[in-house]
Amino acid sequence: MADLLSIDEALERILARARPLESEEVPLEAAAGRVLAEPALAAVDLPPFPSSAMDGFALRAADVPGTLPVVERIAAGRPAGRPLGPGEAAAIATGGLVPDGADAVIPIEYVVEHDNSVEVSTALEMGANVRPRGGDVRAGEVVLPAGARLGPAQIGALAAAGVASVTCARRPRAAVLTTGTELRSPGERLSPGQIYESNGPMLEAQLRSAGAEVERLPPVEDDPAAHRHALERALEADVVVTTGGVSVGPHDLVRQTAADLGVEEVFWRVAVKPGKPISFGVRGATLVFGLPGNPVSSLVGFELFVRPALAALQGAADPGPDFEAGRLAATVRRNPARDELVRARRTTGSDGSRLEPVSGQDSHMIVRAAAANALVLVPRGDGELAAGEIVRYLPLPS
Ligand code: AMP
Ligand code: MG
Repeated sequence: MADLLSIDEALERILARARPLESEEVPLEAAAGRVLAEPALAAVDLPPFPSSAMDGFALRAADVPGTLPVVERIAAGRPAGRPLGPGEAAAIATGGLVPDGADAVIPIEYVVEHDNSVEVSTALEMGANVRPRGGDVRAGEVVLPAGARLGPAQIGALAAAGVASVTCARRPRAAVLTTGTELRSPGERLSPGQIYESNGPMLEAQLRSAGAEVERLPPVEDDPAAHRHALERALEADVVVTTGGVSVGPHDLVRQTAADLGVEEVFWRVAVKPGKPISFGVRGATLVFGLPGNPVSSLVGFELFVRPALAALQGAADPGPDFEAGRLAATVRRNPARDELVRARRTTGSDGSRLEPVSGQDSHMIVRAAAANALVLVPRGDGELAAGEIVRYLPLPS
């Protein structure tokens, strides 16, 4: 099996074909989870004015220690009053505009207040407790570059810098098509030989968490006409994800049907466990992923290959997959021919992440896999990885 593509080679081929989609203007309120197509620039200096970091008294550092008359009281949001003269102090709230003439703020805890004066017994450095105008970012500077993913902190930064809308690649439209005559929906009665369809709901959740708009087609029977009809419809999307029917059995019809409909196959089979028979092809700009039917193969195939493709379609600078480092909690045998993604429970201790493989690693065991929150990469090779070794793992989204 030395001729099988490696995970990295497969990813490279996928990402080479995942061009960013056209961009659109997105109001900031709707931009969480999106990716910037253009840099976002600050509309204002941040802070927009020299502001107090403390509740206290604005004054000139050179005037203390000493007792100073309190000439005004400055609340947050109040416009600039008169400049502070030498020897004067102004009571000021956190976030208040530090008046011209003042160069420091003494916190209220360090003073003794009298009726209309304040007694300061310590010295103060110039600039103490004053947040300078533009100290975080200046108007016109880049708040976030193109390719940045907009998580909560990024949304906060854009709002603070006065950015009301951003330019993002549009969301990818994804179609999910599950195949298998044996599949029934949860809620229906199972006859002998039938199982509940789990890949469709799972993939829909994965796709949505990756930023896609999802259309889930009804499961199709292992029949060429049914495959053709459904796949034709699915191919209108930017991304098609099928499950099942990509192996070598007589009822595995997905690759042939895709080829008949003009999908050019880029690769089939990767040296990975679970999920070896994965296929990937393109028709025009549409990316077509054929994930194997076993639920854990589908889960893993998505995280390894489809999620990064969706990030790339959205213009992410770092499409992933975003492996992290952790410590293996138990010894794991290596597979001589295939890199393996072992389902594991990650816990965090004082020495970082600890990864305990869950019991039940067969590719049909989706309930066992649901106890995991990480996929540990066990590189192919001889022997085993010992407990305590540092390994790479892919967090599973919660
Ligand atoms: P296949 O890749 O079509 O050979 O399917 C491999 C295994 O996965 C078989 O046991 C199928 O019954 C099962 N399977 C296929 N599709 C699904 C699905 N959507 N949900 C749950 N199990 C599935
Ligand atoms: Mg099948």
